[in-house]
Amino acid sequence: MDGNETPDLDAIIATIADEMLSYQGCGKVADYIPALARVDPRHFGIAVTLFDGRVLVAGHADVPFSVQSVSKIFVLVLALEKRGAQLWQRIGREPSGSRFNSIVQLENEKGIPRNPLINAGALVTTDALMGVDDPVATIAHITGFMRELAHDHQVGIDPEVARSEAETGYRNASLANFLRANGNLDAPVEDVLNVYFHQCALSMTCRQLARAGLFLANHGVDPLSGRTVCSPDTARAVNALMITCGHYDASGDFTYRVGLPGKSGVGGGILAIAPGRAAITVWSPGLNAAGNSEVGALALERLAAMTGWSVL
Ligand code: GLN
Repeated sequence: MDGNETPDLDAIIATIADEMLSYQGCGKVADYIPALARVDPRHFGIAVTLFDGRVLVAGHADVPFSVQSVSKIFVLVLALEKRGAQLWQRIGREPSGSRFNSIVQLENEKGIPRNPLINAGALVTTDALMGVDDPVATIAHITGFMRELAHDHQVGIDPEVARSEAETGYRNASLANFLRANGNLDAPVEDVLNVYFHQCALSMTCRQLARAGLFLANHGVDPLSGRTVCSPDTARAVNALMITCGHYDASGDFTYRVGLPGKSGVGGGILAIAPGRAAITVWSPGLNAAGNSEVGALALERLAAMTGWSVL
């Protein structure tokens, strides 16, 4: 599409939702967190929030799902605003090329996680945000931030998902213990895990998440309310990490296919940012081998192709 034409977005979203029906149920729902294994894999939702305030939706755009690792983006924004570039003394900025919960890589790299969007890096990010605060206050801070960004006070944490993850989160506990052993966690391991499991258990709809991410498409300023959420530097940093590391060891493939900063979660959601234009959320619970939504990525690939919104 030529960049001067205004694409008929209503028609595009309807077409994508229709096309995705033939992929219904593709992929495999995350089952290592028992509460997620119960989600119906046939869901598909999409929401696009535009700078003029329009929100285009199709499918199950108003059904809440577990945001999981998409939360890493928002906690990273808060941690960068609080700690600035100091955060990079504790976490790298390179794609991992490894699974999202790899333990081997963390050991090889002496407790410095490769980037903030894999689990080890997110645990350090959460620790950096928490500082000396208590975990309950930090969970409340993150939840309040998401409510404000989504402009919706219904946003909350699903306690059953948080509990389910805490009961089975042995790998994350291993990562956290290893980080602490290397001096890269300040707070007690159980406090960091507590906050991390709760941030992952945030339950949001495509509509809420696409609204919440809009500031990232506009240098940190929400284009609808005019509120400054973060500095332009933080917004640029977070977009750079999303486009290089947002899909774990499948980040190259996502960027090749979609060409937008994006972050996936094992709940099947993906938040994508179209700079200067929109924030987009897709949700389909079936995951590919790398733990990213299979149909969600396909829907974004179609959206990028039909709108010409790729940044590349
Ligand atoms: N809560 C999940 C975990 O820690 C998040 C992983 C993800 O969404 N990729 O395993």
